[in-house]
Amino acid sequence: MFQTLIKGATIVDGTGAPAFQGDIGIQDGKLHVLEANSNAPAENIIDATGLYVTPGFIDAHAHGDSTYGHDYNYLSKISQGITTQVTGHCGQSLFPIHPDTMAMLQHEQKIQTNEFPEEMITFTNCENFMKFAETVKHPENIVFIVGHVALRNAVMGFDDRKPTEAEMEQMKSMLREAMEIGAAGFSTGLIYVPCSYAEEDEIVELCKVVAEYDGIYTTHMRNESTKVYEAIEEAISVAKKSGVRLQISHLKIATVEK
Ligand SMILES: [Zn+2]
Repeated sequence: MFQTLIKGATIVDGTGAPAFQGDIGIQDGKLHVLEANSNAPAENIIDATGLYVTPGFIDAHAHGDSTYGHDYNYLSKISQGITTQVTGHCGQSLFPIHPDTMAMLQHEQKIQTNEFPEEMITFTNCENFMKFAETVKHPENIVFIVGHVALRNAVMGFDDRKPTEAEMEQMKSMLREAMEIGAAGFSTGLIYVPCSYAEEDEIVELCKVVAEYDGIYTTHMRNESTKVYEAIEEAISVAKKSGVRLQISHLKIATVEK
């Protein structure tokens, strides 16, 4: 007797094998794949005739950390079958912050949300953010990436200049701390201020830290129109010079420059 039986499903098991017809029995959190039309006894029966059953999807490019804690955040994912979201892309994350420049970060992030958690003032490092994340009830898995917009703003505000040696070291140590705590990587949004003020060598230095932890570097590139090839070359160059794993986010050509 299973607790739940899903019957009549077309099963895509995630291994790359072709889809097949079958039933799925669920008992004590474990799934048992059964022959089709098993007629296995169960307390609850879900008729999935004409429907697919698959493992949860991974949304590899999400911004769900910016609305973390709001029901609509995870409902929009779960209702699409997404059970893991990877957040913090395009340079945008809610940590680390500096209390003096947090308002600037929030203003910049209004591209995504107008509602920030009250606790944000404490997100001076990844550890404090993770403590907050632990308190948020949510049904999906969430992966956090450190955004360069937040990192640079925490150390240099919105200054349009190169970091000093001390500022560079501070950014690297904050990034290292985040990787130690469990961040999955680092992202840039080189089209957004203050990220756009950074030159390639700054990104390379930061990505070297990420590479030490085998983290991922994701980038919303510096240009997605007439200079898109140069932007791709920059992304690849950063990966080669730092040894980091690279993902170019939403690779596309968009907007027309006048
Ligand atoms: Zn983006």
